[in-house]
Amino acid sequence: ASYFSNKDTIVAVATAAGRGAIAVIRLSGPQAIIIAQSVFRGKDLRQQATHTIHFGTIRDGARLVDEVLISLFLAPHSYTKENVVEISCHGSDYIVQEIIKLLLKNGARLAQAGEFTKRAFLNGQFDLAQAEAVADLIAADSAKSHEVALKQMRGGFSAEIKALRGQLIHFASLIELELDFGEEDVAFADRSALENLIHELQRLIRNLLQSFALGNVIKNGVPTVIVGKPNAGKSTLLNVLLNEEKAIVSEIPGTTRDFIEDEISLEGITFRFIDTAGLRETQDKVEAIGVERSRQKIEEAALIIYLFDVNELSPAELGSELQALNTSGKPVLAVANKVDLARNLEPAAYETVVPVLYIAAADKVGIETLKQKLISTVNQGNLNTGSSTIVTNLRHYASLEQTNQALDAVLQGLAQGISGDFLAADIRRALYALGEITGEITTDDLLENIFSKFCIGK
Ligand code: GDP
Ligand code: ZN
Repeated sequence: ASYFSNKDTIVAVATAAGRGAIAVIRLSGPQAIIIAQSVFRGKDLRQQATHTIHFGTIRDGARLVDEVLISLFLAPHSYTKENVVEISCHGSDYIVQEIIKLLLKNGARLAQAGEFTKRAFLNGQFDLAQAEAVADLIAADSAKSHEVALKQMRGGFSAEIKALRGQLIHFASLIELELDFGEEDVAFADRSALENLIHELQRLIRNLLQSFALGNVIKNGVPTVIVGKPNAGKSTLLNVLLNEEKAIVSEIPGTTRDFIEDEISLEGITFRFIDTAGLRETQDKVEAIGVERSRQKIEEAALIIYLFDVNELSPAELGSELQALNTSGKPVLAVANKVDLARNLEPAAYETVVPVLYIAAADKVGIETLKQKLISTVNQGNLNTGSSTIVTNLRHYASLEQTNQALDAVLQGLAQGISGDFLAADIRRALYALGEITGEITTDDLLENIFSKFCIGK
């Protein structure tokens, strides 16, 4: 049997585990209403209109399990486009389990991870890229990642891909038409127009590919590292950065969100500090290992803060230290610490080497400027993109690369004046790769891979 049968009615709790005021149990499938009715006392759900809510009780035989509200969404006016029943019950795990057990006894089966969204996709509610955005939206924990996921879910990305694909299909069909006419010299497809189109497509695809760096940053945070000599003040600075954030988070009444120690979120951008736990635990033992260790961390980072004690490092020494770091083109912020101890600070001397920010980490001086610099480095740095659409998904990135390669082959073919059937094959390859993004082209493996990453109940 396949992982999937659309004839089954599936059930799962849609809200998070643990004790909330209410929990929502969701049923989807042809039998959803009948199965719900078999445990519900209140109204005859089969007689009710779509998008209505009904109060009643859930009973196991004579035993009262809970008082609930039932929301009805009749096919095709639901998330999955099937009949959907949502039972809002009191939010104890015990009640949820009891109700789900009853529903299973009456003919539902437990939903697999992502099965609701997979059904929505298979029933044409949205395309694959939009379905994936649902998962991203649920996982989004910063303003920016939320914005990107929402845009993708509402189809912005898909529309762009579909437009590209539509233009290519136009040419592919003209070339196929030529093939139908056989060996005679008919050329329906204007070769130079095709070449122009491919250049245009590749420009768009390159923008999308470049946006992935930013997309990745938005989704996963900017991997950031603080390096510098022992006693420069790295641990102090890190604690100041993280603790300020912690204070802000805990000031908001009712926030229960877990604070991840090594991340800060600044204006919607998450900065993830690399290997900082170890750095603090073992204090300066690790740091004494020095440059080699730093280099490893720099490998993993997208952004580097080089911190130095302004009283210990001359401009010339700063220059050679930075050179020794070999940051392979990644942005480096040179930050001078302990300005409170400096007697005659000469900023101009450092400026001849590299722009420097001045702070006193222990006194929290200059921290705000440093934060602004972190943000502007991400916003204006090489992470910037010419595309308003941002690719966040590795699968989409890979498909775009394949498309690009196939288009290269088409261009090469055009340059060499190869025959239409070879051109058509390369165009088809490009179409296939583009189609995989939105799901016009799918395989069972691909679907299983995507939807198994969802949580149960979505
Ligand atoms: P690390 O080895 O780079 O992690 O440096 P630490 O953060 O452990 O700091 C080394 C020492 O410098 C500690 O005694 C800190 O209190 C001190 N320190 C850090 N920042 C400042 C600062 O801005 N001014 C002064 N005067 N001392 C600082
Ligand atoms: Zn330290």
